[in-house]
Amino acid sequence: MTPQPKASHFINGEYVEDTKGTPIPVIYAATGEQIAVVHTATPEIVEEALASAQAAQKAWAKMTGTERGRILRRAADIMRERNHELSVLETYDTGKPLQETLVADATSGADALEYFGGLAASLTGEHIPLGEDWVYTVREPLGLCVGIGAWNYPTQIACWKAAPALACGNAMVFKPSETTTLCALKVAEILHEAGLPAGVFNVVQGMGEVGGALVADPRVDKVSLTGSVPTGKKVYAAAAADMKHVTMELGGKSPLVIFDDADIENAVGGAINGNFYSSGQVCSNGTRVFVQKGIKEKFLARLAERTKGAVLGDPQDEAVNFGPMVSERQMEIVLGYIEKGKAEGARLICGGERVDRPGYFIAPTVFADVTDDMVIAREEIFGPVMSVLDFETEEEVIERANATEFGLSAGVFTRDFTRAHRVIGALEAGSCFINSYNDAPVEAPFGGVKASGVGRENSKEAIKHFSQVKSVYVRMGDVEAAF
Ligand code: NDP
Repeated sequence: MTPQPKASHFINGEYVEDTKGTPIPVIYAATGEQIAVVHTATPEIVEEALASAQAAQKAWAKMTGTERGRILRRAADIMRERNHELSVLETYDTGKPLQETLVADATSGADALEYFGGLAASLTGEHIPLGEDWVYTVREPLGLCVGIGAWNYPTQIACWKAAPALACGNAMVFKPSETTTLCALKVAEILHEAGLPAGVFNVVQGMGEVGGALVADPRVDKVSLTGSVPTGKKVYAAAAADMKHVTMELGGKSPLVIFDDADIENAVGGAINGNFYSSGQVCSNGTRVFVQKGIKEKFLARLAERTKGAVLGDPQDEAVNFGPMVSERQMEIVLGYIEKGKAEGARLICGGERVDRPGYFIAPTVFADVTDDMVIAREEIFGPVMSVLDFETEEEVIERANATEFGLSAGVFTRDFTRAHRVIGALEAGSCFINSYNDAPVEAPFGGVKASGVGRENSKEAIKHFSQVKSVYVRMGDVEAAF
């Protein structure tokens, strides 16, 4: 049975419907069929959500970190208990194979809730002695935060934003992507089942317009966006008007550099994980695969062979390991890039077309002999399209890898560890990998440099982006004044 949301929004601890909002169809990407419908938030719904969050935040911040953390950790337990149901929902929401969602979505969300739940009680300031006087600092919440999500990881994105925000004592209004509206509602439901006070975490549906209204509201103190660079620039500018805090997790065109001494099987595995997981709809993907000339043909042959292991089909079938694009629109965008690659003269190794079956499937696609000036080497595609580029020297590949506005991720495969660290040190990227690709544990900071973002999610770093420091000077003696 396909999932039916109880209502479109979750506000002040309960599901809320307002059918006056524009209907948003929920389409199952594996069949193209409409499975549900939700409604865009009207201005009244947006107001209700912001007012509830603002009203709830102060009491939430007054609770001890231990109490807040306990609720987040309880929510993590509930998510793990319900992992199968939540994974099935994630698969309906995104089209990603159940084989993936069972291990990567609610589980990753639960990790974030557990990790930040654990940290909540240890968020303290410091004591700075100054002779007889002293300064103490207090780590305070920012207040009312807005989270805006992309469509590729709807459960994970909601949890990666909510968990650190709530641990610090903030309240949040979260807007999922209009393409994947279902999962964040479940996150809200579970947080409240775990004991979260009403109003602390709210979900409203809508398109960019609703996101824009949230960002522009003067009550909002912080905006955390996961999305594309163009949207990031708009949201950052809008937030700057009121000097709001921001975290921007944006797109990439990340380099994956494979030296000729690399373990070929591992390098091919890394390239597959970094291009075809979630059918390539991952921001940190290593879509510019630079392969040193000496191993190029061997690498390509093995890559083509292993790509035959992609099993396309009904994503709810656990044997399937490769799903559709999230939407027809995204499929059309990706097919357009594939045509550009062909027209620009890149050598098609495998894939390169839509798969003849219902839904929005594109075969895993590898282009070789890609050059730096080709569109497929410069623009983020966000689909299963790998570009393989040749290189000869370390200096050359570093320069070419950095010649992009993006700076989200980078990876290096080599058996020479001195070189691995030297090259990673020189690459302009926020989240990097040596002899691996795309691992994103909650313990590690995640985020980009250059146009790929501002701030970090996950790890202790995320706490800095959901809190601020107050410093208090304490004088023990008399005040000296000029008059
Ligand atoms: P978009 O940038 O199109 O949208 C992101 C979110 O912002 C959506 O919820 C969207 O609403 C909303 N939005 C759009 N315009 C505005 C606006 N003016 N004000 C406020 N909110 C707005 O990204 P996609 O959803 O297409 O996601 C794909 C992109 O996300 C890729 O570029 C990818 O690289 C990036 N991404 C980055 C990640 C990271 O952590 N760095 C992780 C995952 C994805 P709606 O779509 O409903 O109109």
